[in-house]
Amino acid sequence: MTVLIQIPTPLRGFADEQAEVAVAAATVGEAMEQLVTRYEGLRPHLFGDDGKLRTFVNLFLNDEDVRYLEREATPINGDATLAIIPSIAGGTVAEPPPAAAQSTAKQSTATELNPEEILRYSRHLIMPEVGSEGQLKLKQAKVLMIGTGGLGSPVGMYLAAAGVGRLGLVDFDVVDESNLHRQLLYSNTDVGRPKLDAAVERLHEVNPHIELTPHPVLLDSSNALEIFEDYDVIVDGTDNFPTRYLVNDACVLLGKPNVYGSIFRFEGQVSVFWGAKGPCYRCLFAEPPPPGLVPSCAEGGVLGVLPGIIGSLQANEVIKLIIGQGDPLIGRLLLFDALRMSFRELKLRKNPDCPICSENPTQTELIDYEQFCGVPAVAEEPALNDLIDVTPSQVQSWMNDGRDFSILDVRGPQEYAICRIDGSTLIPVAELESRIDELDPSKLWVVHCHHGPRSTRATNILRDNGFPQAYNLAGGIDAWAVEVDPSLPRY
Ligand code: ZN
Repeated sequence: MTVLIQIPTPLRGFADEQAEVAVAAATVGEAMEQLVTRYEGLRPHLFGDDGKLRTFVNLFLNDEDVRYLEREATPINGDATLAIIPSIAGGTVAEPPPAAAQSTAKQSTATELNPEEILRYSRHLIMPEVGSEGQLKLKQAKVLMIGTGGLGSPVGMYLAAAGVGRLGLVDFDVVDESNLHRQLLYSNTDVGRPKLDAAVERLHEVNPHIELTPHPVLLDSSNALEIFEDYDVIVDGTDNFPTRYLVNDACVLLGKPNVYGSIFRFEGQVSVFWGAKGPCYRCLFAEPPPPGLVPSCAEGGVLGVLPGIIGSLQANEVIKLIIGQGDPLIGRLLLFDALRMSFRELKLRKNPDCPICSENPTQTELIDYEQFCGVPAVAEEPALNDLIDVTPSQVQSWMNDGRDFSILDVRGPQEYAICRIDGSTLIPVAELESRIDELDPSKLWVVHCHHGPRSTRATNILRDNGFPQAYNLAGGIDAWAVEVDPSLPRY
């Protein structure tokens, strides 16, 4: 039986950049074994040390979830498609906010539409599915947006324009120039401002009839339930795994729907997780991938228009939930591929043993999600002995002293094209293990990426493979550009 295995974007670097790999197999287990035998680099990502498929690797055989069947033993009858669906978050965990929480919440007491509103919403009002009744439901609705970045921009603009009576916004980030290619809530003049200040201003311009409640906090287990309690629908537009699990669990505990969206490069996912009516995020992804395994948008990039598409789909689901029309994406995962321009829909099942949304949950309160996701504490360098890091100024002094060493750049070729340190060797981190023979283990190596996480992994790989003199350039080429060579463009 020919099985076409679909490789997700974050793992394609380990499979010669292929999107699909054809193998011949009679069971799901055989197909996966053939895949990792052909591409050994994939094995540690898909299989644990016990030789079993990792729990965060979800497999869909002809679009059907095979997890609650006999997973590896699931027979393949006839030609089939086997999709590997990883969890994607889109970013990294940000620094905590400088200021404490504050809220300007007021209760909405809307029971009718005024003449201005009737004119404004007239194209809604003439649709039988919305009408005055639906528009009043929107006016009385309270929606909380987690994140006001790429996904939050279209979500916020469309929900504000649609007349959602109260929009809560959670974010504590500051507008950065690199946000502007996709975060349409912000313009050039907003660079350096707190996102919530700029977002509230912009959304008020979109619709002065709605109430906006900023929550400039780092969402965590101590404040999530209190903030969520006041809202009807939660929209997950975050970019990191700890917050996604936190948002999911808080929604399950409070019985609220979680309108989920996530993006990576050219691909997006959308669903409505609602423990009371269907599966939750944890039913789909029981555990997060280990930190560093799935690249963030900052590392992997994202097409600027993609959050516009995925966020618009989220806004659409929110409005349907509020007005009670149509079929919400409960129990369905919508996958979007912008390059192929294709949508696929996968059926999700509620995990009868889900720790949080099953009938007998093992978890009845929020936990420490940083710990759950294995995120190291801020002060700790990720699993590296201090001696393995060197600073840009140390490396510069080695250069000045004429010391003999080589520089290994483990970023992607597109990043190398933007800027590079003269004389460096480029081997992307995903290819390092298979191309390690190209490097001389007796030499002194300085390894760098953009900011440090990938080169930390790469330095560990070199040390594990007999390169005793491999050092990680702390802060990456970005720190190098700031401290040593200001002529290099930063990105
Ligand atoms: Zn669940």
